[in-house]
Amino acid sequence: MTTLSPTSTPAIVPRKKVNLLGLSRVQMEQFFEDLGEKKFRAQQVLKWIHHAGVIRIEDMSNLGKALRDKLLDIAEVRPPEIASQQDSSDGTRKWAIRVDGGGLVETVLIPSGNRATLCVSSQVGCSLDCSFCSTGKQGFERDLTAAEIIGQVWLAIKSYDAFGPGNNRVVSNVVMMGMGEPLLNFDNVVAAMDLMLEDLAYGLSKRRVTLSTSGVVPALDRLAGVSEVSLAVSLHAPNDELRNQLVPINRKYPIAVLLESCRNYMAAQSDKSRVVTIEYTLIRDVNDQVTHARELVELLRDTPCKVNLIPFNAFAQSDYRRPSGNAVQRFWQVLVDAGYIVTVRTTRGDDIDAACGQLVGQVVDRTRRSERYRAADDAQLITVG
Ligand code: SAH
Ligand code: SF4
Repeated sequence: MTTLSPTSTPAIVPRKKVNLLGLSRVQMEQFFEDLGEKKFRAQQVLKWIHHAGVIRIEDMSNLGKALRDKLLDIAEVRPPEIASQQDSSDGTRKWAIRVDGGGLVETVLIPSGNRATLCVSSQVGCSLDCSFCSTGKQGFERDLTAAEIIGQVWLAIKSYDAFGPGNNRVVSNVVMMGMGEPLLNFDNVVAAMDLMLEDLAYGLSKRRVTLSTSGVVPALDRLAGVSEVSLAVSLHAPNDELRNQLVPINRKYPIAVLLESCRNYMAAQSDKSRVVTIEYTLIRDVNDQVTHARELVELLRDTPCKVNLIPFNAFAQSDYRRPSGNAVQRFWQVLVDAGYIVTVRTTRGDDIDAACGQLVGQVVDRTRRSERYRAADDAQLITVG
């Protein structure tokens, strides 16, 4: 007969530590208040992590030994892991980032003149299934945590060994245009964007942080009350019939409702001169005709905006094709003649694109994301490829 030893102890379930990397300033202050500590501790820890790049709590020397021991017990500062890195001769750097559970997301840094734009992912996969998007084809796996989102900024700076004064020379702009729909991961994206803007973290100006959405209108309305980042909207069609096919969420929130929400977002900003960026992926014989451009001119009349044209980037599971340079030129001309500011991705023979498909794992840049981000970057002036 087996008897239980009186000394046997129940299995210890490890407590999940709080990852301090993803806490916004307000959340960090609350965390320290709950520990019975003063607010300035939050400021010290934010500076260690985001200014100095220090993630070992033992090394946060101004916290005092007792507090450090307490923190080591309940907290950690844990960035996601880099699964692979690719460098292009034009300076573009791409990472596949491995997150808890094994999923991979992509982060891309695109230097341009004296600035560099980091394109950050918000979800593993995406549930919205836009017909021209490879992320949509993967389906949705999960939301990234705030630590995994801001961790992409942290890792980019770390990879250049550039923590300390001048962080923002390595990452001067952030665009939420990687994998996923940021507004479907609202709280984590807002916490991470707060850290991008926060002086005790990355201190970027609100003009230099851009959220791109396919049009989750209720969440966009909510964002207007809590954030001042720049807004980009993935429109891709000048009427509902066509947009319903390309961007299925349009069936729920049609164009008129979406544009009204964009205008409200802009009206809520203290700086009234800001405009929404309209992203328009040009797909051959689908939405790239002059008639579409004319319809777009009328559609956007009442919405303060600029337009980013993105020639479609082909990928294996898609039958869509990229329009000819002439078609892009014609489309662009119609908008310019109507007085719009229009940017177009420049065509380059990028060696990093030649390396597409060479990343380890399932993250393959089939859509040549780095080009899309260039198109999103203000530095790209009116150039037709
Ligand atoms: N989910 C958000 C942000 C990520 S997608 C959104 O949809 O806005 C970032 C941008 O890349 C969007 O404008 C998207 O429509 C565009 N895009 C996606 N796949 C593309 C492709 N194959 N070619 C060109 N642009 C693409
Ligand atoms: Fe999702 Fe954006 Fe891709 Fe649409 S374009 S499937 S919203 S990531």
